[in-house]
Amino acid sequence: MSDLVNKLLIATSNKGKLREVRAMLEALGVEVIGLTDIDAIEEPVEDGDTFDANARKKAIHYAAASGLWALADDSGLEVDALDGAPGVYSARYAGEDADDMANNARLIRELQAIPEANRTARFRCAMALATSDKVVVATSSGTIEGVIIDEPRGHNGFGYDPHFFIPDQDRTAAELPPVQKNRISHRGQALAAIHPQIVRLLVN
Ligand code: IMP
Repeated sequence: MSDLVNKLLIATSNKGKLREVRAMLEALGVEVIGLTDIDAIEEPVEDGDTFDANARKKAIHYAAASGLWALADDSGLEVDALDGAPGVYSARYAGEDADDMANNARLIRELQAIPEANRTARFRCAMALATSDKVVVATSSGTIEGVIIDEPRGHNGFGYDPHFFIPDQDRTAAELPPVQKNRISHRGQALAAIHPQIVRLLVN
C-alpha cells in the first residue's frame, strides 16, 4: 500500500496547520500538500452530530475528489454549563455568517448567570485519514481543558481563544505564543495521536 502513497492532502487552506503537519510527515518521504495546492474542490456540508463524524466526512470527501489520501480535522468548543454547546456549531454559534466577535458575544451572554467556577470547557479536535476509495484508515482526537472568562485577554490565536483561560498555563489561549499553543492544543494532541498510525500505514 505504501508504494502508492507518495502524496498526502491536508484538507485545510490554513498555512499554519499545513506547516505543522508537513513538519511531522515529510521526514517519511511523503509530499504534504494543502487545498490551495490543487484545483478547487467544493466544500462538503459539515452536518455531523460529532467532531469525529465531520472529520470522517471531510476526509472521505476530499480524498475521493482529489484521488489522494486526505487528512481532515474538525474542532470546536464544548462548555459544560451549556450541555456541550456550541460544539459542532462553534464556527456558526451566532448565526450562519457569524464572525469570531459575534460568536464570543453570544457565548458570554449565554453564560451570564453562571459563576466562573462552573464555566469549565474544553476545545476538542477530531482527525481522520481517508484513502481515495473512501475508506477511513485512521482517526484520533485531542482535548484541552479551560474555563470561560468574561473579559477577553490576549491577541494571538483565533475564535474563542481570548475567552478560554487555561488554568495549567495561567493564561488564555490567546495569550500563549503560537508555538506553545500548537504543542498543547487539542489539534496538536490529535495530530500527535494520528502520527504513529500514519507512519504505520506508510511503512507497511
Ligand atoms: P475548525 O474545525 O477549524 O473549522 O473550527 C471550528 C470552530 O471552532 C472555529 O471557527 C472556532 O470558533 C472554534 N475553534 C476550534 N479550534 C479553536 C481554537 O484553537 N481556538 C479558538 N477557537 C477554536
